Amino acid sequence: MEDDPRTLMEFEQRFSSEEACREYLVQLRRPEGIRCPECETEKMWAMSRGLYLCARCRYQTSVLAGTIFQDTKKPLQLWFPAMWYVTNQKNRVSALGLQRVLGLGSYRTAWEWLHKLRRAMVRPGRERLSGTVEVDETYVGGQEPGQRGRGAFGKVLVIAGAEVRDSRMGRIRLRQVADASAVSLEAAIKERVEPASLVRTDGWRGYGALKEKGYRHKVIRDEGNVGGNLLPRVNRVAALFKRWMLGTHQGRISPSYLDYYLDEFTFRFNRRNSQWRGKLFYRLMQQAVDMKPLADLHTQGKAGSR
Ligand SMILES: [Zn+2]
Repeated sequence: MEDDPRTLMEFEQRFSSEEACREYLVQLRRPEGIRCPECETEKMWAMSRGLYLCARCRYQTSVLAGTIFQDTKKPLQLWFPAMWYVTNQKNRVSALGLQRVLGLGSYRTAWEWLHKLRRAMVRPGRERLSGTVEVDETYVGGQEPGQRGRGAFGKVLVIAGAEVRDSRMGRIRLRQVADASAVSLEAAIKERVEPASLVRTDGWRGYGALKEKGYRHKVIRDEGNVGGNLLPRVNRVAALFKRWMLGTHQGRISPSYLDYYLDEFTFRFNRRNSQWRGKLFYRLMQQAVDMKPLADLHTQGKAGSR
């Protein structure tokens, strides 16, 4: 059952109390049940205020345990509007914007929340792309195109994949890669594209061994067709991402956080045809209650667990 508020008014009515927010999380977590973190039993007694008591070992846990809300000192009544705001913005979600909308005293809190939410946008182990997939890499964060395979200074290499759905585009995936070597590209493709998919690339040698890695591979060659767009979908995704980065972050990126932005962009793009924004809110909530709490981002730096 998808359970998503459709308008701001619905949202505000629905989540008008801390209890209402907690109840929403209780409902959302119910399919998997709430397990005792101590003895793993599923027999938990619901108590008041979103708390549960283990029927076996008497351990007490909260509906917030194991979610991004775990250990938060701020009310859900602040988190929920943050998530509503983030999912309702088409572009420019900045920490400053979030801070203003929520009236948060601290910019740092807004910044940390935004990064937690970006991480929640990409569920670990999510499905890989399949069918026919266009793959290409592009440099992000510089003015001039860099020399391929040599790690252009000040730029970050991003590999992109886009499913081919007739003349249209299916889902996309984006991630940072260290370089354009076969080792880097193949590892990235393996992680994001189902084996036996048909992968379309240009003639770059980094893609030369895809067949040996279990993919069908079609090299789209530039046959004197100067300026022709050989991989139109994935090139469009790359262009849209760059434009989005310019609008959102003025083009400035720190490589250590680029993956968060790639995830946010992917989340929005893959749901671009959602009928209403509440669906994005619902999806983000689902993913937010289904993760381990994140360590402090300032000390953690770039998450290595992607
Ligand atoms: Zn227990």
